[in-house]
Parts: sequence; structure tokens; C-alpha cells
Amino acid sequence: MTDYRLLINGALVEGDTLMHVINPATAEPLATCPRASRAQVDCAIHAAKVAQPAWADLGPRKRGKCLALLADSLDGRAEEFARLLTQEQGKPLAEARDEIAFSSAFIRHFAGLDVAPRIVEDSEHRRVEVHYRPLGVVAAIIPWNFPLLLIAFKLPPALLAGNTIVIKPSPTTPLTTLRLGELCADVFPAGVVNIVTDDNDLGGHITGHTDVAKISFTGSSETGRKVMASAASTLKRVTLELGGNDAAIVLASADPKEIAPKIFASAFMNAGQVCLAVKRVYAHDSVYDALCEELAELARSAVVDDGLSQGAQIGPLQNKRHYDKVISLLASAAESGTVIAGGQPIDRPGYFVQPTIVRDISDGTRLVDEEQFGPILPVIRFHDAEDALAKANSSTMGLGGSVWSSDAEEAEALAGRLEAGMVWVNKHLDFGPNIPFGGAKQSGIGMELGDEGLAEFSQLQVVNVAK
Ligand code: NAD
Repeated sequence: MTDYRLLINGALVEGDTLMHVINPATAEPLATCPRASRAQVDCAIHAAKVAQPAWADLGPRKRGKCLALLADSLDGRAEEFARLLTQEQGKPLAEARDEIAFSSAFIRHFAGLDVAPRIVEDSEHRRVEVHYRPLGVVAAIIPWNFPLLLIAFKLPPALLAGNTIVIKPSPTTPLTTLRLGELCADVFPAGVVNIVTDDNDLGGHITGHTDVAKISFTGSSETGRKVMASAASTLKRVTLELGGNDAAIVLASADPKEIAPKIFASAFMNAGQVCLAVKRVYAHDSVYDALCEELAELARSAVVDDGLSQGAQIGPLQNKRHYDKVISLLASAAESGTVIAGGQPIDRPGYFVQPTIVRDISDGTRLVDEEQFGPILPVIRFHDAEDALAKANSSTMGLGGSVWSSDAEEAEALAGRLEAGMVWVNKHLDFGPNIPFGGAKQSGIGMELGDEGLAEFSQLQVVNVAK
């Protein structure tokens, strides 16, 4: 028995089978939820296809009103959603509350936008306009680290642009998404929003489906490659938001005491399971020891606990498979560097790992070269900023990066040479619904959010009229 339902063609329906969702803080079952069959996925895509023309005909103002209603109803159930998010995902309740608040703010941002045509020429001979037409059915595929916020990256611009959507959450974090389906059922016409779940077995079916016009995918680079390959047969549009291995370069003039808490927060938020987390720190020789010690002190004093416990700063890793991967990275880090804080799994039920700082480590080791996606931070010493930049740029990934210095101009000049889609000066991990979001190199293709992200949910049509 479960009180969770899929959303297909406006109806909240049972899945063909059931699956268990685990609470990562206890490793015990949290809930049973529906698991869709391939036939149910086909029904969802068909419903989205049938609903799309009428949804497009409503126009952006009415579509925006529906989005605003969704944001209001999410705000109305924010605390319930936040507690459920902590239980299924593991993050501390304060972070879960932020995720819900950000999600409704992102939905509200797009609710207030327009998709008006742009005049590119109006001369004696011709009037040329660029129109933003809908693409059709959008498939949104979501990972487990920000189950709701990453829907709020995709659903609002996709719907505002006149598309309909089929959303598939990660099998380990489907619950908040299914609750969102209840809100969507009250707000949108049937078929406009559909939510299906799987046990990691239906993603390929969705991305290869002939009636899906665009895939908006967030997840690992490995799965991103499969998504791109399966989109090729029907030449679907794809936006891929993939992995990152963000470097933070700390220059000689930076104050270690002042910046350490900011770097620590950007590296250990959501137990390090953030695509844009700081994943490697390159620190100048003159500040190296002091920065390592400040970071280690923050790691030693961080409260690691069940996200629902008062005062918890770092929760468990989200699932067993990922926990096993992070444990194997811990073991390799101890061999390739000096562990000055943490270094062990925590002996309690659930997938907890001590926040870990590793110094005297260099490029060419697993912890530096791979995306750890967990609470382990390597700090690498450098003498020459050009060398640090070359190492930061040697990754195949290029999501974000930051430069830290008391001279903002010097930092900005270096930051501009990072091969990354998003760079910051004296901060990291700052973004918003009006700011384009996306990666360089193998961290992704295309942008989300901002005007650029909205445009990616449209087919540009040039209308060229003779005079
Ligand atoms: P994942 O790639 O394993 O799974 C992501 C989603 O893809 C899940 O819903 C999964 O069920 C689905 N999927 C699995 N196989 C598929 C297939 N063959 N075709 C289509 N879909 C398929 O990623 P994850 O482990 O859930 O998330 C962690 C990764 O996501 C990290 O690498 C992280 O950096 C990345 N991430 C990136 C961003 C970003 O914006 N760049 C944001 C969050 C997470």
C-alpha cells in the first residue's frame, strides 16, 4: 500500500508495481511508492502530446498564471515538503527548507516572463521577426541530489514556452516529486504535467521515444552520453547538465581565516553532493598551511547527523551505491595524501561519512581527478598561479570554478581564463533563476535558467514578410 501516485493525463494513478524508498539516515525503508511500467510511460508521453496544442494556444499570460498558482500551493505546503525531502534525500532540514523556497521562487520567476517575438529588421523592403514556438513534449530527467529544485530549473521555462512535460525523478528520491504531482493535478489542464517513476530502467525508453521533442537531463556525464546517443535517432533537442570537478584557486593575498568558512560551505553543502560544489582547492604556498588548518578545524567541528535532528550541518550520503563509491575514494585518499580531518565512515546506521580534508595531495590521484560528490576535499599546494590555472583546466569537466584573492581585479582576470561555464570571484555556488546556468567541456551542453535557458525550450522561427 502507498499513498503516493503517479500523475498521468491529469489523474493521480497507481503504478503497475511498487518499490521501496530508503531513508539514507537510517538505511531503513521510508515509504513504498509506485513504479511505472513502460506502458504507463507511453500513456504519459501520449497525454503530453495530446495536451500540448491547447496548452500552447492559452498564451504565455495564462500559462504564467498556472505557474504562479503552483508556486503558491508549494509555499502552502512548504514545511511538509521540506521534511519529506530531508527524509528521502538526507540533507539537513534547513537546506531542505531552502530547496523548497528556491523552487517556488524559480517557478514564480518564470511565471512572470513573456515569450514575445523579437523584431530583427523592419525596413522599407521587409519586416523580419524571430518567434519562439513550442517544441512539443519535453522529457525532464532528474538526479537525486536536488530532486525538487532541478524540476524547478526545467518545468517552469518548458511550460511557459508552451510545451508539455513528462518528469522522471531518480528512483532513490521520487517522493517529493510525487507530492508535487498532487499540486500539479490541481493547477494544470490534464496532460500538461505528467510524472512517472522507474527503478533506473525507463530513462532510455523515454529519451528514445519518437514523441519526445526535447530532453532536459541533469545527472552524471556517463548517463549524459547515453542520453545524447539515444536522442540521435530522432534528432531530439538536448540540454545536458552533467558532472563537475570545480576548482577553487586561492591566491597569495587571500585571507585564509576569512575565506575558509565560505569555501567549506561551498564544498560540504548537501554532504558535498552538489554539481557546483568546490571539489578541489589549489592554494598558494604562502597561505597553504593556514588554509588547510582552518578547513580541517571546520571539518572536525561540523555536526554530522540525521538531517531532521536539530543542529545537523551535514547529513548522510544519499544512497548505498554512492556511499560505497565515496568509501573507496576515502581509502585511496589516505594513500595519496595526508588526511588531517575525518577520513572514516561513521559507525552508525545510515550512510554517514566524516567530513574529510586531505592535504599534501596532487593531480593524478583519484580524489583530485574524479568527481568525489561527497564530503572529502583535497587541498593542493601551488607556487605559480599559471600552474594552478593549467591544472584546474586540465579536467575534462568544466562546470564552475572560483578564484579567491584580496585583489578582486587580479582574481577576475584569472577567473576569466578558467575553462568553465560559471566562474566566481571570492565566492562559489551562487546562482539564480535569472542567471544562465550550464557547463563547458564534458560538464554539459546548452544552458538552463535565464533568457538563454528559456530559449532552449523553444523552436526559433524566423518570420520574414515582404513589404
Ligand atoms: P545519474 O546519471 O545516475 O542519474 C540521473 C537520472 O538519469 C536518474 O533519474 C536516472 O534514473 C536516469 N537514468 C539512468 N540511466 C538512464 C538512461 N540510460 N537514459 C536516461 N536516463 C537515465 O546521476 P545521479 O547519480 O542521479 O546524480 C549525480 C550526478 O548528477 C553527478 O555527476 C552530478 O554532478 C550530476 N549533477 C549535475 C548537475 C548540473 O546541473 N550540472 C546538477 C545536479 C547533479
